[in-house]
Amino acid sequence: MTKTACVIGANRGIGLGFVRQLLAQGYQVIATCRHPEKADALNQLMSKGGLRIYPLEVIDDKALETFAKQLGDQAIDRLIISAGIMGTHGVQHGNPIERDNLQHVFNVNAISHIKIADRLVDLVAASNEKLLVQITSKMGSISDNRSGGYYAYRGSRAALNAMIYSLALDIRGKGVHTLLLHPGWVKTDMGGPNALIDVATSVAGMLNMMENAREYPTGSFFDYSGAKIEW
Ligand code: NDP
Repeated sequence: MTKTACVIGANRGIGLGFVRQLLAQGYQVIATCRHPEKADALNQLMSKGGLRIYPLEVIDDKALETFAKQLGDQAIDRLIISAGIMGTHGVQHGNPIERDNLQHVFNVNAISHIKIADRLVDLVAASNEKLLVQITSKMGSISDNRSGGYYAYRGSRAALNAMIYSLALDIRGKGVHTLLLHPGWVKTDMGGPNALIDVATSVAGMLNMMENAREYPTGSFFDYSGAKIEW
């Protein structure tokens, strides 16, 4: 039976990598991005078949509602929420901590994700795999923080982890299993050219984690290679 995955934030970077590999594995893929008409790399994958692309600006609740209505009762085996931003670089003690930057980064990286997961979870529950996958970051781990800085990004990911963990417990009764995954330090626009691994390696590792998701408790936090991350 054909399976369906939905990737939020799919026009570049890790999200695009998920679309590529999921199509290669035979999944039907629903991909979202802010501007489908400009998403050249994503649009090129349409020729392979099995891909549908929808617009979604993640901080826009009306856009989320429109997207959800377009999906109708489409079951989603794997909902993978990947969109994210770093926010203003170089903010540390002594530099201005701008409220607008903090609010925007929390809005994109945390608030939007819980809203998307909450809105679409019944479609996940209606599928066979019933897997909710939250792409987050090790930088949201307080116990792993040895270098400081990155207040907005770290804080937004810690908030996201707390919220998604809580949601994971709430949706157990629907049979939905949740994983929080750190992709590694990946060569993308966000990760930069000095990052340690490429997108294909990161995505292959995370898809492997999804394959074996039920070996781990719901709400577990791992990296792409299967290493457990402390909160
Ligand atoms: P990129 O910067 O390469 O891509 C970010 C993606 O998020 C783009 O598709 C972008 O769309 C989308 N996005 C950003 N803001 C919004 C928004 N408001 N609405 C909809 N889409 C949005 O990042 P990566 O691919 O590297 O990162 C993917 C995820 O992995 C992120 O959550 C990131 O925090 C996380 N991560 C990445 C690491 C790395 O080393 N690369 C390490 C740890 C975590 P658009 O093109 O329209 O801006």
